[in-house]
Amino acid sequence: MTQGKREHIESRRHQHEGEMICEQVVFCSEPGCKGEHVIRQNGKSRPPNVVYNMARRAGWKIDTKKGKHVCPDHQTKRTKPVSTKTTTAKKPSEPTKSDLRAIFRSIDGHYDDSIPGYAEGATDQGIAQTLKCPIQWVQQVREEHFGAAGPDPRIAKLEAQYAELTKRFSDIADRGMKLAAEAEAAQNDLKATASILKSMNGGVA
Ligand SMILES: [Zn+2]
Repeated sequence: MTQGKREHIESRRHQHEGEMICEQVVFCSEPGCKGEHVIRQNGKSRPPNVVYNMARRAGWKIDTKKGKHVCPDHQTKRTKPVSTKTTTAKKPSEPTKSDLRAIFRSIDGHYDDSIPGYAEGATDQGIAQTLKCPIQWVQQVREEHFGAAGPDPRIAKLEAQYAELTKRFSDIADRGMKLAAEAEAAQNDLKATASILKSMNGGVA
């Protein structure tokens, strides 16, 4: 009976809180993977087929002929574990049609053609965060189907405030001019009355 290595089952033992622990371990054959399936041994070793069936139930792919066993992590992502570092962080992946429709709908709900730009509060960044997608996708859809992002909402707010203050100032100035004109008219009436009074009094006011 061949033992351990060829079948990729290793027996190992170690102390844990004063107790001797015996385990049978299946290792993942993917290069660089540290995946292992550990089965506690109570007394005597289980036969290899029992160990393999237990690993299979835990999601392992077991090929006893090739002696190749693949852990559950490698069932889903069939990537080479070493090369992932260089390929991941590069450029954002391409949006699907459903991504593009969701982005379009979201921009459409916030875009004001009369500005043109986003209505108050909305930004590419905000939409990207809500949809959990790269901001580049949102920029791309907006530029293609809508137009400029429009003024910064903080600037727009200050501009509105400035316009309101300008109007307030000009209203006060208008009222001031009107009062000045009334004062001048009253002064003219006063002068005219004084002049009539002076002539009727024979030149003595
Ligand atoms: Zn693995």
